[in-house]
This record gives sequence, C-alpha cells and structure tokens, in this order.
Amino acid sequence: MPNIEFDLGEKRVFPPGPRAVQGAAISGMDAYHRLCEHARRDPDGFWRGLAQEHLVWKTPFTEVLDESDAPFYRWFADGRLNASYNCLDRNLENGNAEKTAIVFEADDGAVTRITYRELHQRVCRLANGLRSLGYRKGDRAIIYMPMSIEAVVAMQACARLGVIHSVVFGGFSAKSVHERIVDVGASLVLCADEQMRGGRAIPLKAAIDEALAMGGCEAVRKVLVYRRTGGAVAWDAARDEWLHDRMAGQADQCEPEWVEAEHPLFVLYTSGSTGTPKGVQHSTGGYLLWAVLTMKWTFDIKPTDVFWCTADVGWVTGHTYVCYGPLATGATEVMFEGVPTHPNAGRFWQMCQDHRVTVFYTAPTAIRALIKANDAAPETHPSRFDLSQLRILGTVGEPINPEAWMWYYRNVGREQCPIVDTFWQTETGGHVITPLPGATPLVPGSCTLPLPGIDAAIVDEAGHEVPNGQGGLLVIRRPWPGMLRTIWGDPERFRKSYYPVELGGSIYLAGDGAVRDKVTGYFTVVGRIDDVLNVSGHRMGTMEIESALVANPIVAEAAVVGKPDELTGEAVCAYVVLKRARPEGAEADRIAKELRDWVAKEIGPIAKPKEIRFGDNLPKTRSGKIMRRLLRSLARGEDIRQDVSTLENPAILEQLRVAQ
Ligand code: ATP
Ligand code: MG
Repeated sequence: MPNIEFDLGEKRVFPPGPRAVQGAAISGMDAYHRLCEHARRDPDGFWRGLAQEHLVWKTPFTEVLDESDAPFYRWFADGRLNASYNCLDRNLENGNAEKTAIVFEADDGAVTRITYRELHQRVCRLANGLRSLGYRKGDRAIIYMPMSIEAVVAMQACARLGVIHSVVFGGFSAKSVHERIVDVGASLVLCADEQMRGGRAIPLKAAIDEALAMGGCEAVRKVLVYRRTGGAVAWDAARDEWLHDRMAGQADQCEPEWVEAEHPLFVLYTSGSTGTPKGVQHSTGGYLLWAVLTMKWTFDIKPTDVFWCTADVGWVTGHTYVCYGPLATGATEVMFEGVPTHPNAGRFWQMCQDHRVTVFYTAPTAIRALIKANDAAPETHPSRFDLSQLRILGTVGEPINPEAWMWYYRNVGREQCPIVDTFWQTETGGHVITPLPGATPLVPGSCTLPLPGIDAAIVDEAGHEVPNGQGGLLVIRRPWPGMLRTIWGDPERFRKSYYPVELGGSIYLAGDGAVRDKVTGYFTVVGRIDDVLNVSGHRMGTMEIESALVANPIVAEAAVVGKPDELTGEAVCAYVVLKRARPEGAEADRIAKELRDWVAKEIGPIAKPKEIRFGDNLPKTRSGKIMRRLLRSLARGEDIRQDVSTLENPAILEQLRVAQ
C-alpha cells in the first residue's frame, strides 16, 4: 500500500503503513469486520474459542459468561488456571526457555537480560519463600518497587500463589501507600530500599516505615526489601527481611496454585484524577485473556518483536503491557528504570536504537515533553538515531492532540509506522478502542474503532444512542472478559460509578465524553464527562480547545477548564506552558491576546479563552495526567481542599493561582 495521505471529509487519513500490514494478526478491515460480526452473532462461541486457544487451563471451563448477577459478571467461572503458569511455564514448554524475556536498562545505562528459564526460576524461588512465610491464596500484598526485574518477579510470584497484589507507584507518598495498605487489608509488603531516577536515589523503604507507623496496618506481618542501591534503611528485625535472604536456598520449582478464573489477580487503585482512588479489582482468567488478545490484536506481537512499553508497573499499563501481556505472549520486552530526559532527552530514541525495539508504546505527555526538549537540543532529536526497526508506535493515557500525533508519526515512525492510539482505562483491563496496525486507516487524534467483542456506543443521559457527529457519554453495552469485577470492598460504589440505574444498570459507563465521526464512525474521546464545557449553550470538549492551543508553534502544553460566568454560563480558562520561558506583565498580555485570536480562528470565537494563565508547567498526577479538578478550583479562586498527594509538582499551584 503506498504510504500517502488522503482526505476523507475534512479529516486527513493515513493508511496503516507498509511495515505493519504484512501478516498482521488482523489483516485488513474485512478481517476486522468478520471478527466483530462473529462476536455479535455468537458471543458465547467467540469468547469460548479465544479462551481455549490463548490460555492454558488446568481445569477447562464449561460456561463462558454468567450474567445472572449483572453487573457482577462472571467469566469462565468453573475453569481453573494460573496466571504465572501462563506467563512463564508455558514458555518453557514451547521452546522459549532460552529466549530473553526482559531486557532491563537501569537509570545509569547498565543492561541486564533475563531468559524465560531464569525468570521462571526466580519467580518460583520467591513464591516458595512467600509460602514458607505462610502466605496463601487470597492474602493481599502491597508492592512498592521501582521498575525492575524484581518488581515483575514480585507480581508473578504473588500470582503463582493466588496472593492478590496491589502495586503502588513508587512516586506516591507514605500517606497514599497507607491508604492503600489499609483499604486492601494487606498482610505483606514488598518494597525496595531506594529507587534511582535521573541519577538521584529516592527512598522507598522509609515511606513504608512511615506508612506502617500511621496505624491501622497491623495485619502486615512481613516487609521484604529488594536491595537496589544499598542506601541506609531503618530496620525492624521482627518484621523486615531482605528479599534475597528470603529467596536464598529456595527451590527453583514451585507448583502453582490453580485458582478459579474469577479469583482476583490484583487490585489496582486508579490514579485519582477525578476523586478518591478506587480499588479496581481484576480477575485472573478474563483479565489474562484480554491481555493476550490485545497484545496480539493491537500490537500484532510476533516472536521476533522487541516490545517496549514505557509505563511504570505502578499503573495498569505496566500491569497489562509490562508484567502480564508480553510474557503471556512469549515476547522479548524492554524495561526501563529511569526517566526519558536523563542523561538527555534522546534517551528513549537511544534505547529504541540500542535494543532494536520494534513496537514502542508510550504516553502523549512524554511525547509532548520530548517535542519541546528534542527541539531545544537537536542532538537528542529522533532523526539522529537509527529507528528503522520500529514497526508500530502506540500511545495511551490521554487523548493525543493531532499536533503531537503528527510529530510522533513523522519523526519517530518516519511515516512508516502506524500509531495505535489506544483508548482504555484501569477498569477495562486492556485496550477497548484502538486502531489495528494491519487494518485501520488512521486519523490523528482519534482512537478509531472498538476491538472485536467491544460493543462501544455513545449515548445521551437517558441511555439513547446519539447520531454520529453528536457528542455524548461513552458506554460499552456488552460485557467483555477484561472488565473490572468490582471495586475492592465496595460493590455499591462499583454499581453507582460504572453501571448507573439511569442507563439501565447493566451498561458500562466509561466516564468519558466522546463523539463519533459522521463519515467514518470513528470514535474520538474528548475527555472526562466533567471536562465538557457549556459556553452560551455550545457544548465543547476541553480537549478540542487544548489541541487548538498546542497547534500554535509557541505553545508546548495547554489545559483548559470551565469557570462559572454570569454572561455565558461558563467561560473558558486556559493554562498554557510555552516552549520558551514563562512570559510576564505586558508580554504575557500580548501573547494571551495572540493565543485568544488564534483559538477564535482555529475553532471559532465561542471557544476563545476568556482567561489565559501561563505556567512553567502544569499540575499533573504521577502518571503524567493533567489534574483538571485542581485547575478548575484555581480558576474559580477556591482554596485547594482536594487531596494533592498524587500531584507530581505541588509548587506549580501557587504560580497558577493568580490571574496574570
Ligand atoms: P481516575 O479514574 O482515578 O480519575 P484515571 O481515569 O486518570 O484516574 P486511568 O484508568 O489510568 O485513570 O485512565 C483512564 C482514562 O485516561 C480514560 O478514562 C481517559 O479519560 C484517558 N485515556 C486513556 N487513554 C486514552 C486515549 N487513547 N484517548 C483519550 N483518552 C484516554
Ligand atoms: Mg478513570
């Protein structure tokens, strides 16, 4: 297929790209539509076949889906399996034993490789060690570790025993860890002494000590500590133990605990950009199936691929696309301890080149940061590196503005690689709406079409589907295997948050606003439901205005929120980070006017920001998402009463507080 752009309505459409098309798992739109049709016509047969083909079951399941207690759906409920068996032992049996499972690059550039056989041994040793301490199926473990082979070993060892893990991102404070330890009722903590990021050592064990001292964590019997840096740590001899001491002398074979498919594999707290974190509970069977299917469908993963997902294991992306999906599909994956800007902003591209990465998956926030940094330091620009082995690029976490999409497509993919803009959530377990590399024509800024078996739609407040072109609520009408099962310990909140009675009680409400293209039917997610503005009766997604701002060459990043306005109901308030230094005084006024006019020209006068505030950066969660709820409070001049413990850069709030 020639790699040319063509127009479809007003949109620029890009074909998937020659490197990705050949022999793709889903090759061509016909194949895609056939799968969708199969899932629609015969869901039972569709899922049954996939679950039999892609997972190894100890006890085969008979029933596919039990809907009797909707929305508490149960999948493959009488089947038994083990997630770690499916990720590790399966590879020893099918010829991957000596294949590299993980290429780990440390913050300082040191590279460690581990084969499937070695990984299996290490996981078995730790699982045996945990068993010897009395840990059993159903116990809960908090994992608070840096990106490391050991973090994967810890998660897999828990899975091997049926111990439910809850990974807490290493950037979270002691208070956040404490909340999660208490909520999940953990009896075990696995952590590291410190972590290395950008050349700096950051304590982890100290935060665990502090969290446990806050009270309410009496169930925690053991804290196992991975020695990463050797930095000094406080020690409670009765409770603390080095991970390597516990593993020493343990057998390197360990019979897995065969659990029911519905047994919780993990609980993961969402990032908290919209409120108190929810303990999203995932199953073993359905979740793992979805991890495998999306690796094959979305990333078209092949035995020769080197897959790199840059997400931290503290996020769901690091669960599905670092810990479980790549291993369950026998891939070789890259894992990275550090940050994309250390020692310079070329680190990602250097690593893609060095490790011959073929499938690269990252977040829009990283791309936007690198555009700015790579432009400022040309020697770090992707054009300086050999990226010829890349065949698929991906993004996740936020809508990607078309400007950033184009940069990624041109400079990193060299117009040869499709970008899979994967829409999904902690709750969905894996991708739900995404282009397929060997099939879907791409439109920058659109996550395109739902995966086979995902019955996504856009509805109004009463649950009626709206016509294409009209915005509404994104829902998924039929259950799918990878969906969350409940909120840990709070089934009522689960029902209210995701299956509201207003929509009938059995339809999944994603919480995002979206719109489908009139011509293609493609989905564009415009942001969270509460990120939709209503200016003088016109409904607009904040994302649209942000994209327009970022399309201006002087703007690096922008966030838009609504602010009550006497005249228009709601007014647009924009927070802008420029590629150059933050302007002040008359210069700020001049640039603000220029940007206001720009938006008026790009979208229309109605979208013109009433107010523009400039910052050095924006308040973000540790996963890199803009915290719009804080910006909303700032725009209204309210005091910040919300929990800011998940904020990456709290100092920025002061700078953005005052209208300039
Ligand atoms: P919380 O639910 O606690 O507020 P969160 O929603 O940020 O946290 P995640 O589950 O990590 O936590 O993120 C899912 C959300 O990220 C989606 O609901 C959507 O708003 C956004 N998102 C993820 N991927 C995409 C994408 N490709 N396009 C648009 N939005 C995306
Ligand atoms: Mg969410």
